[in-house]
Amino acid sequence: MAEARYRGEVVKLDRGYPLVRLEDGELLRCEHATALVKGERRRAVIGDVVEVAVPPAHDKGVIEAIAPRTREFVRKDPTERAVPQVLAANFERVIVAQPVGEVNLRRLERELVLAFETGAEVTVVLTKADLADDAATRATVEAVQALAAPAADVLVVSEDDPASVEAVRALLAPGTTTVLIGRSGVGKSSLVNMLVGAEVLSVGAVREGDGKGRHTTVSREIVEVPGAGRIVDMPGVRGLGLWDAEEGIGAAFPDVEALAAQCRFRDCTHHEEPGCAVRAAVESSELTPERYASYQALQQEMAAMRDRREEARRMNKEKVSDTKRRRAGAPKGGRRRR
Ligand code: GDP
Ligand code: ZN
Repeated sequence: MAEARYRGEVVKLDRGYPLVRLEDGELLRCEHATALVKGERRRAVIGDVVEVAVPPAHDKGVIEAIAPRTREFVRKDPTERAVPQVLAANFERVIVAQPVGEVNLRRLERELVLAFETGAEVTVVLTKADLADDAATRATVEAVQALAAPAADVLVVSEDDPASVEAVRALLAPGTTTVLIGRSGVGKSSLVNMLVGAEVLSVGAVREGDGKGRHTTVSREIVEVPGAGRIVDMPGVRGLGLWDAEEGIGAAFPDVEALAAQCRFRDCTHHEEPGCAVRAAVESSELTPERYASYQALQQEMAAMRDRREEARRMNKEKVSDTKRRRAGAPKGGRRRR
């Protein structure tokens, strides 16, 4: 019997094993074909459209191809030096979640950079409004809007306010997928459960004292919201190191970029250069020192990443050309760099 081939979508990922929903709705646990993971180390992520082969008398499918992605959520691989890690593929919106009572603006800036970099629609959702008082919430929303607007809307949700959840549901257009990012414990799983109206994801118990959520699972799963679109909670995403972030930084810091366009030197680093409009704005209090520092730090992180990538590429090329030379029988070190 010939092996069967199917097209499907990765709807759940835990411990590296993708669960694929085939076109007929059947769910199939899959592994990757060796050919796929060997050279480029391609791996299917949540949201990927894949081609699956099912060899006769085999209970698992084998992912043989991954379709080109319309969109990717990428961070720097936290365990390796200069390697990207794709966390999700093929989505239309990113929701960045933080608890309204514990908003960290610097982390939010980073989350927005990564979210904008994907090219998707971006929304900030401030959670747990029932734990904060109204005046504090209003002030926080204003501060967050100052960072996010107009590129991203800001919504506030609370467990005890169904209308606030409805407003989020309204963002999830049928046929679209939304990726939900945010630190562990911010209330992502709770939000998904409220959207669905059932306990589809397990909610982490809050430890006494530090108020941080604890996660029982690190699986990622596409959840269907009845009458709306689909949503993916991204648990276990601690570090968000920048990968390619040029456009993301531009979109997350339109105020600084507009100032930078007025600097005397086109390649101004906004440190000590004369005629620097960014520093002038800090001095005149038009731009806060915190936002300036944050912009500079993210730019530096991206530049450092780019250097490392170029270094890695150069070393790779050398390796390849060494091999070629050896194969061709040429003496080594003929035209090496100085
Ligand atoms: P996740 O790690 O981002 O998925 O966060 P969880 O959804 O697991 O939530 C972490 C903790 O915050 C849990 O104890 C939830 O019950 C609690 N929580 C989530 N949303 C709300 C809310 O709107 N109000 C209150 N009071 N607690 C919430
Ligand atoms: Zn400058």
